[in-house]
Amino acid sequence: MPGLSRDSGDWTRRSFLAAAVGGTLATAVGISRAGKDPKKAQIGITLDLEMSRHYPKRGMLEWDYQKGNLDEATKQYSLRAARVAKERGGKIHFFCVGRVLEQPDIGWLQEIIKEGHPVGNHTYDHVNVWTKDPKQTQFRFQRSPWLIRGKEAADIVRENVRVTTLAMKERLGIVPDGFRTPGGSNNALNGREDIQKLLLDEGFRWVSSKYPAHKSGEIMKPPTLDVYASIVRAQAEAQPYVYPTGLIEIPMSPISDVTAFRSKYWKLEYFLKAVRLATEWAIENRAVFDFLAHPSCLVVEDPGFETIKLICDIVKDAGDKAQIVGLSTIADGVRG
Ligand SMILES: [Zn+2]
Repeated sequence: MPGLSRDSGDWTRRSFLAAAVGGTLATAVGISRAGKDPKKAQIGITLDLEMSRHYPKRGMLEWDYQKGNLDEATKQYSLRAARVAKERGGKIHFFCVGRVLEQPDIGWLQEIIKEGHPVGNHTYDHVNVWTKDPKQTQFRFQRSPWLIRGKEAADIVRENVRVTTLAMKERLGIVPDGFRTPGGSNNALNGREDIQKLLLDEGFRWVSSKYPAHKSGEIMKPPTLDVYASIVRAQAEAQPYVYPTGLIEIPMSPISDVTAFRSKYWKLEYFLKAVRLATEWAIENRAVFDFLAHPSCLVVEDPGFETIKLICDIVKDAGDKAQIVGLSTIADGVRG
């Protein structure tokens, strides 16, 4: 159900639609990054702290109602991933669903913050910021409609963003480092000045909302060369830019873990190859690569942290051509 599930199955469908319509392609690198040192690629490794449907077992859908109720394995994976990245000279930018902060134990997240990894706002309940229908903002509100009675979709979104910021300040003692929309859209927040302004009002200077169109092949089949080529081509569509309101967009770079593993049943080796090609493209073009994944998915699909190690190793081997950064550093280099 487009607009309801905020997962990348929808991203892919939406992306194909958008691709069919035809998008604005390929501007990005030179234009949006004018003024930035063109000699260095910027690589972001981002993990969204939420539970994902069908993990750790297929058929597990209850997380749709409890996105922030992280299980122990997911918390431990997040912490260990942060350590793995740091040991290799990198860092991870996390995005936290606010409801995580209702859990009794947040020591793992405090440790992550202490080690210098940035954490952004991912809304309280993982709400759809695009919809104008209050019921479509989140599954939780369909089961428990009294929570949103009398509210417009925009009110629900604003409150979901604001309460997360508040929870992060009170429980973690930090101000959120940026905002990522739950789910993504090939259209990003283009033409949605209402949401752009809402985020600016809530204190954010950048958002990560775009997930560009790309092919991901047939379910349960190894990706073809055409699929890999499509993913590499999509990197040019995943470059940062500035909205007319002044808000900065830092897109998510395909392919996400949930698209690859959950939707297409990829093996880890296919995913590693796609991530390697995309990272290499970014380095070659001194561009941005914003890797997007979920510890709740990777803990099952990549228990040895191979993807994170791979990205860190590629960047290290690139010497002064690339660096791993938080997304705010990427935003610093974006000009309108
Ligand atoms: Zn999410």
